[in-house]
Amino acid sequence: MFDVCIIGGGVAGLMLAHSLPPEYTIAVVTKDAPDVGNSRMAQGGIAASLDPSDTPAAHTNDTMNVAADHAAFDRVDLLTRNGEAIMRRLLADGLPHDTDHAGCPLLGMEGAHSTRRILHAGGDQTGRGLMAYLMKKTRGRVIRFAHHQALELLVREGRCYGAVVSDENGHRKTITARHTVLATGGIGALYSHTSNSSVAEGTGLSLAYRAGAVLEDLEFVQFHPTILMVDGASRGLISEAVRGEGARLIDGNGTFIMESIHPDGELAPRDVVARAIERYWQERGPVFLDARGIANFGMKFPSILKNCREHGLDPAVDPLPVRPGAHFHMGGVKTDDRGATNVANLYAIGEVASTGVHGANRLASNSLLEALVFAERLGEFLAEQGCVGNPDSGFTLQTLKATGSPVSLPAQEELQHRMIQSVGILRDKDALAAFVADVPVPQVDDLLCLSDEEIHAFHRTAASSLMATAALLRNESRGAHFRGDVPFPSPAWRGKTIDLSHEGVLFNTREIHSKETVQ
Ligand SMILES: Cc1cc2nc3c(=O)[nH]c(=O)nc-3n(C[C@H](O)[C@H](O)[C@H](O)COP(=O)(O)OP(=O)(O)OC[C@H]3O[C@@H](n4cnc5c(N)ncnc54)[C@H](O)[C@@H]3O)c2cc1C
Repeated sequence: MFDVCIIGGGVAGLMLAHSLPPEYTIAVVTKDAPDVGNSRMAQGGIAASLDPSDTPAAHTNDTMNVAADHAAFDRVDLLTRNGEAIMRRLLADGLPHDTDHAGCPLLGMEGAHSTRRILHAGGDQTGRGLMAYLMKKTRGRVIRFAHHQALELLVREGRCYGAVVSDENGHRKTITARHTVLATGGIGALYSHTSNSSVAEGTGLSLAYRAGAVLEDLEFVQFHPTILMVDGASRGLISEAVRGEGARLIDGNGTFIMESIHPDGELAPRDVVARAIERYWQERGPVFLDARGIANFGMKFPSILKNCREHGLDPAVDPLPVRPGAHFHMGGVKTDDRGATNVANLYAIGEVASTGVHGANRLASNSLLEALVFAERLGEFLAEQGCVGNPDSGFTLQTLKATGSPVSLPAQEELQHRMIQSVGILRDKDALAAFVADVPVPQVDDLLCLSDEEIHAFHRTAASSLMATAALLRNESRGAHFRGDVPFPSPAWRGKTIDLSHEGVLFNTREIHSKETVQ
C-alpha cells in the first residue's frame, strides 16, 4: 500500500508530491506522458504580490472584484497570503523566472489586476518552466505510472483506498493507498472549442461523483476570449498578456470592438471580453487580435509566435483571428481548506477541486497559484497523518475484465459539439434542458465490467451531464455563467452554491465577505 496515490501529474499533483515528507511512498498516475496536461501549457504566469508596492490584500481585492460576488473570502485570503510566501520560497529555491536588469522578478500585467503581479518564465513559457522544476524536484521521490488511466476509485464503507487504473495496453491494476488524491485538472476537452490539453476531460469529476463526493460550482466555466481560430478549429491560446502589452480587438474593417462595451476595453474581465467576441462572431462576423503594434513580440511571446507561424500567420503583419473557447473550470470537487472531500481519505487539488477561490469568474493567473497553495496545504496535512511506507504491495494485477454488455453513450465529437452549443459561453434554459434530457448521467453499477473505451465515454458523459444540470439549475447569470433567458445576477442567488452528489441537489450558502465586514 502506498502512503499517497496522486491521480494527475500537473502542477497540483507534483507540488503535493514535493511537499510530502521524504519517507512517504508516493504513486503519481498520469494518463499520458508524465508532464502532459494544462500546466505545461500555461503561458501568462503566476499571480503573486511580489512587488514591494503590492500586498496580498490588494490581490485579494482584485480576485474578489472579478468573482461576481461568489468567491469565498477566507479562501481567497488564504490563497493570496500563502501564495506570496510560497512564491518567495520557490524563487529562492531556483524556480526559473524572467528578471529585469537588476535581477528582480519581471512582473507582467493582466486583465483586472490593479498592478503588475504576474511572474513569468521564458516570456510565455511559465508552465513549462514550473513543470520542469517540479519534475526535477520529484525525481526519485515518486513512482510514476505514466500512460495509466484511472478508471474507478476504490471505496469501502465510505473510505477511499486507491484506484483501479488501466495502462496503454489495457491491462488493469489496482493501486492501493492510505490517501488518494484527485489532481486530474480541468474540463476543456469536453468542448469542441478549447485551449486545453486533450487530457482535460473532467474524468476526476465523474470519479469523485461515483465515489460519493460532493461537486460544487460546476456551472462556472471560464471561456478564454482569444483562442486562435484557423479553418474553424481552435489552434492554441493567445495569452491575455498580449492584450496587456497593448494588442487590440478589431473586426474585419479594423473597428475596435471593445470601445463601446467596457471602460477597461481589452482588459475588461474575461467573461465580458469573451461574450463580446462571441456575440460579434454570431451576429456580425470574425474578430481579430491586432498585435502589430507590440515591439519585440517574438522575445516576449516566443511560443505564441511559433504557434502563429505554424498556422501561416505573422503577428507583426497579420491581425490574428480569435474566438472564445473553454479554458478553465472554476467549480469541481468540493474541498475544505486543506483539500479534503466529504469522502474519507479522498482529496482533490488543482483545477479539479472547488476551493471557492475563483467564485464565478477566475482572475487571470490565479490558477497555478491555487494549485501550488492548496497542494502544499494538503501536503502539510498528510504529513501530520504519518506514513506506512510499503510500496511493494501497492499494486496488483486486476483480474476483472470487461464482461458487461455494451452501453449506449454519445460519441466524443458529438458530445463536444453539443457542449459548446448548449453548455457554452451563451446559454439558455431550453438548450440546457434539452441537453440534460438527451444526455443524462449514465447509470452503470459495475463500471469495471465495461471496456476501457466505454469507461472513458462514461466519465465524459457523466461530467458533461452534471455540468449541464448545474447550469440549468442556476436560474440567473453570474460571472462566466451567462443565460440569455435570465441575463442578470439575481439577489436570491447571491452567495448560493449548487452541490451535486449521489444524494441529489443541495443549495448551500457561501461566506463571500470578510468575517470582519459589517454588512
Ligand atoms: C493554454 C493554457 C494557458 C494557461 N495559462 C495559465 C496561466 O498563465 N496562469 C495560470 O495560473 N493558469 C493558466 N492556465 C490554467 C492552468 O494551467 C491550469 O489550471 C493548471 O495547470 C491545472 O493544473 P492541474 O495540476 O490541476 O492539472 P493539469 O496540469 O491539467 O494536470 C492534470 C493531470 O491529470 C492527469 N489525468 C487526468 N485524468 C486522468 C485519469 N483519468 N487518470 C490518470 N491521470 C489523469 C493528466 O494526465 C495530468 O497529468 C492555462 C491553461 C491553459 C490550457
